[in-house]
Amino acid sequence: MCGGTVNYISHLKCRQCARTYEIEPIAACEECWAPLEVIYDYDRIRSEVPRESLESRARTMWRYRELLPLDQEPWVGRSTGFTPLLPAPRLAKALGAREIYLKNDAVNYPTLSFKDRVVAVALGKAREFGFDTVGCSSTGNLANSLAAQAAAGGFKTFIFVPADLEPEKLVNTRIYGATLIKVRGNYDQVNRLCSEISQKYSWGIINVNLRSYYSEGSKTFGYEIAEQLGWRLPQNIVVPMAGGSLITKIHKAFGELQKLGWVESAATKFFGAQATGCSPITTAVKQKTCEITPQKPNTVVKSLAIGNPADGFYAAKLILESGGAGEDVSDAEVVDGIRLLAETEGLFAETAGGVTVAVARKLLRLGRLNPAESIVLAITGNGLKTVGAVSGELGASEAIRPRLADFEEQYLNVHAAASV
Ligand SMILES: *Cc1c(COP(=O)(O)O)cnc(C)c1O
Ligand SMILES: [Zn+2]
Repeated sequence: MCGGTVNYISHLKCRQCARTYEIEPIAACEECWAPLEVIYDYDRIRSEVPRESLESRARTMWRYRELLPLDQEPWVGRSTGFTPLLPAPRLAKALGAREIYLKNDAVNYPTLSFKDRVVAVALGKAREFGFDTVGCSSTGNLANSLAAQAAAGGFKTFIFVPADLEPEKLVNTRIYGATLIKVRGNYDQVNRLCSEISQKYSWGIINVNLRSYYSEGSKTFGYEIAEQLGWRLPQNIVVPMAGGSLITKIHKAFGELQKLGWVESAATKFFGAQATGCSPITTAVKQKTCEITPQKPNTVVKSLAIGNPADGFYAAKLILESGGAGEDVSDAEVVDGIRLLAETEGLFAETAGGVTVAVARKLLRLGRLNPAESIVLAITGNGLKTVGAVSGELGASEAIRPRLADFEEQYLNVHAAASV
């Protein structure tokens, strides 16, 4: 499907001290513990891969394969990515903005969140490194995606989650036969347990020792936005943040496209969105610092509930340097955001999508987002997986008798007496 196995990966490089490493299953620098980043041979890509050569390729995330870290054909997730970028005129009108687009990973394949992108890359790499057992710590969507794709890829799988996850997220993990370990603790405690496990067992923990490769999958969300805008970058993008990886990788993607000359240079402003009950990154950004103070999460937005975000420093830095902003919203505003998106554009997003929409509304009201410029909202997960967050808000409706008069009386306010 991907025609040949040419790859352009060069090495891993520490984001802090620039020390380089071979392509191995390690994610942190041995000198300074900063994250390691995959570096490609961009000069060779520029000379050997014209942008036009992508046009005839399948509409999946693998159309950008030269910018992904696999040596071989993808092992799983061959249909993942290339989700719709939807103009959202009714939402734009409601928010008083001119041009809003929704990047809709609520319909990503196979498990309806953007995490399918990172898992597809991580499991391809896990296979290349020879791991037969994989695992992750998760706030929900990663668990769903790893369970599904590891089943399809024939891996043995251990998934660790906080015990208080939404019931939909638990069912959507267990159905695939993965071993699900519920931990009495928050995500940060679950993640620490996974780090210990990855030191003791030679497993591919996709967001621990495979994190450098895993996070590369997020770049495809950014490539697609640019291509779907006609190889242009948006002026503004609003991104929900948990560990802060997605926003940094969209930024990396836009930077690579400019480096390759595939898009005109443009200064996209990045806006980070969190729930107030777990807002370590937006709190730092509002204080104009990149130093993250960890928090204890307390919010209905469980998919973003990471109190000590691994990439928080880099996320805050890029937001500040881009001229964007960080903002957070209450759980009630999240529910309003979910409903507004559903009622204006017919798209049911999970709580993280409610955060994105509500933060965009708040930033427009505060004058931090320019309503005359193009704005992309990152919709990263599907509302069917967090139904409980909104079901209580919709009000109960009483059943009627199967009679025309009952319908008219209750729903059209036509009283039976009036027709006598
Ligand atoms: C994981 C997740 C995010 C954010 O991911 P990070 O890369 O950790 O910041 C956003 N939205 C949804 C629905 C997620 O599951
Ligand atoms: Zn280092």
